[in-house]
Amino acid sequence: MTKPKISRRSMLKAVALTPVMQPAIVSRAMAADEAALNGVAGIDRVAVLPGKTYLRGWAGYGDPPRPVRAGRGAQPVAPPVPTGPTPTVTWSKASGPGAVAFDNPKSPITTATFTTPGAHVIKLTVENGQATASSTLNVQVETPPPAKQLDAVYTKNFKVASPLWNARTKALMVNWIPHCIEYINRTDLTQGPGGIDNFVEAGKALRGEPHGNHKGYVFSNAWVHQTVEAMSIALMIDPQGDAETVKAHEKMRATLDDWIPKILAAQEPDGYLQTAFTLPRVNGRGDVTPGPFKHWERRGDHEGYTAGYFLESAINHYLMTGKKDARLYNAAKKLADCWYNNLGPAPKKAWYDGHQEMEQALVRFGRFVNDMEGGGKGQKYVELAKFLLDNRNAGSEYDQSHLPVTQQYEAVGHAVRAVYTYSGMADVAVETHDPDYQSAVKSLWDNIVNKKYYLTGGVGSGETSEGFGPNYSLRNAAYCESCSSCGEIFFQWKMNLAYHDARYVDLYEETMYNALLGSTDLEGTNFYYTNPLDANEARTAWHVCPCCVGNIARTLLMLPTWAYAKSADGVYVNMFVGSTINLENVGGTDVQMVQATNYPWDGKVTITVNPKVSKNFSLRIRAPQRNVSSLYHGTPDTSGITSLAVNGTAVKPAMDRGYAVIARAWKAGDKVEVVLPLKVQRVRASGMIEATRNKVALRYGPLLYNIEQVDQDITKSLNADSPLTTEWRGDLLGGVMVIQGKFADGSPMMAIPNFARTNRDPAAPPPPAGPPPGADTRPPRRPATSIVWIKEG
Ligand SMILES: [Zn+2]
Repeated sequence: MTKPKISRRSMLKAVALTPVMQPAIVSRAMAADEAALNGVAGIDRVAVLPGKTYLRGWAGYGDPPRPVRAGRGAQPVAPPVPTGPTPTVTWSKASGPGAVAFDNPKSPITTATFTTPGAHVIKLTVENGQATASSTLNVQVETPPPAKQLDAVYTKNFKVASPLWNARTKALMVNWIPHCIEYINRTDLTQGPGGIDNFVEAGKALRGEPHGNHKGYVFSNAWVHQTVEAMSIALMIDPQGDAETVKAHEKMRATLDDWIPKILAAQEPDGYLQTAFTLPRVNGRGDVTPGPFKHWERRGDHEGYTAGYFLESAINHYLMTGKKDARLYNAAKKLADCWYNNLGPAPKKAWYDGHQEMEQALVRFGRFVNDMEGGGKGQKYVELAKFLLDNRNAGSEYDQSHLPVTQQYEAVGHAVRAVYTYSGMADVAVETHDPDYQSAVKSLWDNIVNKKYYLTGGVGSGETSEGFGPNYSLRNAAYCESCSSCGEIFFQWKMNLAYHDARYVDLYEETMYNALLGSTDLEGTNFYYTNPLDANEARTAWHVCPCCVGNIARTLLMLPTWAYAKSADGVYVNMFVGSTINLENVGGTDVQMVQATNYPWDGKVTITVNPKVSKNFSLRIRAPQRNVSSLYHGTPDTSGITSLAVNGTAVKPAMDRGYAVIARAWKAGDKVEVVLPLKVQRVRASGMIEATRNKVALRYGPLLYNIEQVDQDITKSLNADSPLTTEWRGDLLGGVMVIQGKFADGSPMMAIPNFARTNRDPAAPPPPAGPPPGADTRPPRRPATSIVWIKEG
């Protein structure tokens, strides 16, 4: 640290971090404070062996140049004029179990390589002949993830048998998806327009017929493709004779019959598909620019964003039809080929899209093509995904193009773009075993989970444009867009596949039950674009930007993929959802997995394992751990499994990376009975987060709880040691477990699950989108009516 000098401008400083971070002198102090608070060492970044870490130190006088942090087009602030002699810099190892080699220890921008796993501190020292200053960086060095990742379980016909999930999936199928279909079919929307009509008009344009203009945002094709995927998944859910679900399924089948030819007719002869490029566009003043538009010219046109959702929709449509209807699948290959033929190393074009999605979609689709057709036919799509990521550089933090992705260690910018990037990077890390990718992915993961993560599992404080704020800056009026919750689930799921570690499932389960499940109301007729922890408004039927509408449904319905993973030697039970799900090719046989449980209302789970042929394989059952993020700590401890029995005999299984492992010869009808501990927990946050100081949150299993103004005065406080109990309330909110207690003043307190929040107070419509006419600023935020963090003491 610097010694106090005459003026701040003249202070000699060393900053050992990338320009995207706060000055290390500040960050280092934070890490130390956090260590004191939580008993864990703060990590600035992770280096995965044998990789290197990229160092972008800075030495000078006054404050270092500010990174490009704000929205589109923001420029970095120029560095201060030197007020002293030119300093010299030296990198060195301050502590750590292994050797550290610097590529050029005398250059502020260089790399460091490590030999040994463990916590390392490296130091940047500067001197100018009169004074010295130094700054440090904490690097956690790790061994690489296993060579082979777990296999994803494709979503195929399945049955849900869970009170909570039956109700949620039914609301999505019977109300939400039909609602999305209706809005996408409408041609009269003034807010959030641009549905199937864009495809119809683009088809006309391609046939040389008179046609209309493109409607809505350039990316409006996205929610059509997402809804196709949501319908395809919904149609794989057994209606079990429920008349309303059967009727909704009929509507979805008829809609797919109607939409698919319209979507395909909008595909250009070379495979390109994006109706905003085929049709004339109209700007806000009503000026029309005739199409077609040149492809891959502008980064803000969401070409990859819409193309990616189309590729993804084709996967579940193909699976839903039992691989019999290949129309979307073939069209998706044609689109992916069009991209592959045009973008890539010279002589092809170098490019990247300003809104990520194509990267993760290309990997998902490439693997799917490999699985369907063999011979590595999808590998070129995976290559293109890496190429698109590798091209991100020299842009802004807003779309994560400020640095090469392998040199990004802090989650910044627009939250959906960010988590989609990291999810795509996690895919590429697994595919290539590139340690630079692995290091960046693990660093970004650590930064999100331990510095920028809400207790709901949501991300994005909204302090930058729809994006991430600084470390530990987690205001409760959070942004937490529903799409960023989807992306967060994809990212954590991929980390589970890569690391075979249950803690990533702990995290995506948290996001799913809290940040995402409550994005629609219980009826499934309205939704939240943003999901702040201090809720203060009602959901809306549509949004000026309906990017989340299909994403919410397709993500929540894909239960087989979230509930299980598999490896060459066994099955991973990741989520506890009453269901019947078929897994293909486990230890050489197909296995039907049946879960009977009322989780998360009850901790008893019975898993029946039905292999087609008796086989030896291992069953790994996740032992939940609720305190994964070091930002939050729940008490009493409810981690692990209470008891486990196989065919009535209690067993004490070996534990491996958060899973209880049962390896045996399995035959049809074998039963595993698991009891998971469910207790009311009080959760407290790290003192580093200002918004949650002197506050407490309540949790039961994976479910976070809210207190609502409709039941009580939510400004009251709760004593730290007052008893809390649970009660099943079948009459409330479709049946929920409530948490009851008393506020400090003795009046009753009742908390309901966060996903069921704001379902009983329709009195508060959302505020107008902008400032009222004549006003300079938006009206102040209305007081919250439903909150996660309760005053304590
Ligand atoms: Zn969205």
